[in-house]
Amino acid sequence: MKLHEYQAKNLLKKHAVPVPNGELASNLAEVQKIAQSFQGQCVVKVQIHAGGRGKSGGVKVVKTVDDAVKVAQEMLTRNIATHQTTTDGVPVNELLIEEALDVSQELYLSVLVDSGLRKVIVMASEAGGMEIEQVAEEQPDRIIREVVDPNLGFMPYQARNVARSLNLNSAIHNQFVKLVTGVYKAFIEHDCTLIEINPLAITAQDTLIAIDAKATIDDDALFRQKDESFAYDDRQDPELETLARNSGLSYVKLDGDVGCLVNGAGLAMATMDVTVAAGATPANFLDVGGGANVEKVANAVNILLSDPGVKKVFVNIFGGILRCDVVARGILDATAARKEPIPPIVVRMLGTNAEEGRKILKEANIGVHLVNDFTEAAATIKSLS
Ligand code: GDP
Ligand code: MN
Repeated sequence: MKLHEYQAKNLLKKHAVPVPNGELASNLAEVQKIAQSFQGQCVVKVQIHAGGRGKSGGVKVVKTVDDAVKVAQEMLTRNIATHQTTTDGVPVNELLIEEALDVSQELYLSVLVDSGLRKVIVMASEAGGMEIEQVAEEQPDRIIREVVDPNLGFMPYQARNVARSLNLNSAIHNQFVKLVTGVYKAFIEHDCTLIEINPLAITAQDTLIAIDAKATIDDDALFRQKDESFAYDDRQDPELETLARNSGLSYVKLDGDVGCLVNGAGLAMATMDVTVAAGATPANFLDVGGGANVEKVANAVNILLSDPGVKKVFVNIFGGILRCDVVARGILDATAARKEPIPPIVVRMLGTNAEEGRKILKEANIGVHLVNDFTEAAATIKSLS
């Protein structure tokens, strides 16, 4: 679960990690009031679940209250797209208004789960800031990694190792050791999969301060991470994803025009591959899961058909616990309830009650193309484009 920057900073603050003074605003009156408290010298930052804001106009340093209000107005009235969002971007509902600091150097610091190593690692670099991705690609040596032994935790010598590799002066070296220890504690205590501070600024006054923060909490730990101040902001997700989550479906919206309805994550991925091999592009990943009933299938079909990008649908079901006749009835329920024309639906159905499912669909006469295998499915999708 992604947190907003302001939520991540609250989490860090609890562990004595220094962050700039600032407040959250959701309208211009609030922006004005907060900017006044900083005599206009402030940074206006969109709160979205994506990085790359600085390069996309989502972070602006201003010098007057009027300018703060002006940039805030622009930010609050349009979606923002960064290289980490879709091209449509995401809505901006809140802004973080912070004191502007005099930054002399930007470092990079993160704690994350390395899935390859199956361990937590601490990463840091002297070359922090907005070009960190380029640094990672072109000068990977400038990013150092400390692997944390799960039995020992992050050891004090490791904190010193990281600090030493950053070539900090002694005052900042000591602040860094304390800070990285705090970040690691926050990471463990809140069941994070990522905490990233980029940049971690060294100010002209020789202090260290986290001027950006990103945090993700492990979804599987949410049952014990119920702190309300970290509530999930689902306004950032495409509406259809929220709808799908509330129906217990695993759904990810993509950019293509073939809506895919599948049971099982592996089959869903194979289905997307077949779709691409047929020269088409999937509009989504959708796994209805093993135990779906008619209503859940109908919800899934509805979500597919509500996506204006969907021009045809590919249903690929291997009936096991989920019976094919249940899927067929779900498709019928959803299509019957829609006023809009139904796009062509290609159905491959095998396994439990496949014959019955196919019969239901054939008799319903809603323009379903029944196919027997992947090859035929691909050919049919191709012929429909
Ligand atoms: P991101 O692009 O989404 O990662 O957003 P950041 O919070 O990292 O902000 C982008 C950039 O704005 C940072 O890399 C800094 O260079 C700059 N920035 C943010 N806050 C301040 C500040 O208080 N003072 C100065 N001088 N620069 C800042
Ligand atoms: Mn950043």
